[in-house]
Amino acid sequence: MQQTKRILVTGGAGFLGSFLCERLLGEGHEVICVDNFFTGSRRNVSHLLDNRSFEIIRHDVTFPLYVEVDEIYNLACPASPVHYQDDPVQTTKTSVHGAINMLGLAKRVRAKILQASTSEVYGDPEIHPQTERYWGRVNPIGPRACYDEGKRCAETLFFDYWRQHRLRIKIARIFNTYGPRMRPDDGRVVSNFIVQALQNEPITVYGTGQQTRSFCYVDDLIDGLVRMMQTGDDVIGPINLGNPVEFTMLELANLVIEITGSRSRISLLPLPIDDPRQRQPDIGTALRELNWEPRTTLRDGLVKTIAYFEGLVSSGYLRPAAAE
Ligand code: NAD
Ligand code: UDP
Repeated sequence: MQQTKRILVTGGAGFLGSFLCERLLGEGHEVICVDNFFTGSRRNVSHLLDNRSFEIIRHDVTFPLYVEVDEIYNLACPASPVHYQDDPVQTTKTSVHGAINMLGLAKRVRAKILQASTSEVYGDPEIHPQTERYWGRVNPIGPRACYDEGKRCAETLFFDYWRQHRLRIKIARIFNTYGPRMRPDDGRVVSNFIVQALQNEPITVYGTGQQTRSFCYVDDLIDGLVRMMQTGDDVIGPINLGNPVEFTMLELANLVIEITGSRSRISLLPLPIDDPRQRQPDIGTALRELNWEPRTTLRDGLVKTIAYFEGLVSSGYLRPAAAE
């Protein structure tokens, strides 16, 4: 029988964090969700509030935290370029001071700690697909640097705590993940395209739309994170977690239009600065170390995600399409 643990999830009221809290509670653990609600919301975890094993604390991880826990999943950090560029100094602080505070906590209570790192550590990559051995190509002074370099520094801190203090660490490098509970104003491509399609508004494809991403459905990703936490102390990563099937943004736009049956047209807008041209994870390590690979196709995942956003329209959270 699996042992009940007390687990801290920072950023637990966000998109990924809320699914992770749900999964861990479902496995019988006690979960402490810490969030400052910058991009997350109580609504994401409202269905968990009655669970006696669930606790939520409003707290900013750039300040120290004292709780007794067995495991820490460190997810606190805005993930959408729109939101992490809104207050870039706070974004770097969240990644760097947040990592220092959570690593300090892990050291004090001897907890195992997993860092939600990102494919952004590879920047605009010269090798394809990206393996964990690749050191990346990041512009350290551009508008994405607060996120990319913050996450890279957090990885450095994790490895130094491991080398210096023998902390039990895990680093997952997450590639673009989507699903229900993304905010309608999140600004990331999947939620943008779905909201625009449901409102019959222009689909805003940046650049020529030939840049690629590889999209992982949230359930698959959460399974990968939990598997990684359950590995022995010798598995520390970094390990890429993502779906290796790659799409151009134009292909994604057309798929969303097709599934929603939308009347939207595609509108080409300027490409943001330092936008990576291609991104695809090599998931050989995850397959070998975690026996993990994603199961959900982009079409199936989009159908579920679109159903969620349609629910927001029918419950009045999202404006319906204007009449013809
Ligand atoms: P999200 O923005 O929905 O969630 C982030 C959560 O962290 C939010 O609830 C937010 O309020 C909280 N937060 C932000 N700053 C905080 C602070 N200083 N103190 C406490 N809480 C804070 O994003 P997400 O997609 O759920 O991403 C979760 C994590 O996974 C992030 O660390 C992100 O970098 C990483 N990640 C996500 C993806 C993806 O595609 N979803 C890809 C790579 C990495
Ligand atoms: N993108 C787009 N239209 C949008 C939002 C994003 O074409 O409305 C593009 C963006 O330029 C990038 C890709 O979609 O090439 C993924 O963007 P997102 O912000 O989702 O994630 P990231 O760039 O961090 O991978």
